[in-house]
Amino acid sequence: MHLKKGDTVMVLSGREQDRGKTGEVERVLIKEGKAIVTGINVKVRHTKPSMANPQGGRIERPAPLAASKLMVICPACQKPTRIKHVMVEGRSVRACKKCSEQILTKYKTE
Ligand SMILES: [Zn+2]
Repeated sequence: MHLKKGDTVMVLSGREQDRGKTGEVERVLIKEGKAIVTGINVKVRHTKPSMANPQGGRIERPAPLAASKLMVICPACQKPTRIKHVMVEGRSVRACKKCSEQILTKYKTE
């Protein structure tokens, strides 16, 4: 999985209205090979009134997208890029294939 939570990504394919859009990765679903991106692939759910939501109505939530359809935008060169892994101080870190700058993650992952 080349994506991490907090990455800015571009949508390569998928629904027409989402193609070429960018957003931030909200969640990575490693097992499914998918990611949820803010504002992309938004599905509307109509819900009945419930205790948690007494009004009911429409809930807009982004649905997971295949990670293979997403490309990370390098924070250094601002281009959508493939990721390479480089060793820094004995740790594998992600780097941009275009400018070779490291791509740091916003959030600590285990
Ligand atoms: Zn770059």
